[in-house]
Amino acid sequence: MIILSALGISMYIAISQFHISLWFILLYGVILGVIFGKVFCRWVCPMGLIMEMMMGFGGNDGKIRQMYQYHKVGCPIAWISGVLNKYSIFRIKLNESTCKNCGVCDKKCYIVAMEPEKYSLYKPAKLKPGDSYTCSKCLECVAICPNGSLKYKA
Ligand code: SF4
Ligand code: SF4
Repeated sequence: MIILSALGISMYIAISQFHISLWFILLYGVILGVIFGKVFCRWVCPMGLIMEMMMGFGGNDGKIRQMYQYHKVGCPIAWISGVLNKYSIFRIKLNESTCKNCGVCDKKCYIVAMEPEKYSLYKPAKLKPGDSYTCSKCLECVAICPNGSLKYKA
């Protein structure tokens, strides 16, 4: 949350005080998207910071998570970098040989929570939430895996 706050406030100051062009911000978001996927919305955008704070203080219920996903509908950076989640250089990757199928990662992921019949981080028959348009690279799945079987890497 501290890193998120610093980045979000810096971005707000940069736009409002130094009159940085929104085209430049868009280009920056797309370049980040090509390399890292949809990191801008959560880690750079001031709106992402506000939504994270609301989730932190508001109990993390399903409605707030849904709002978090859809607040970005009007943002071109979200459109482009969401699509880039499938093609970015850095992606969330599973090491099947060390995975114990415990399911802890799926319980932590808000995308799996909302559509468990469709997505899973470790079940091979399902779609990977990390490639989904809505994955904002919170990396909570990577952090919580007790075996280090999920990595965010090139
Ligand atoms: S938390 Fe790790 S070990 Fe457990 S299912 Fe997920 S990837 Fe596999
Ligand atoms: S980073 Fe992991 S836990 Fe977070 S939304 Fe993406 S797949 Fe789910």
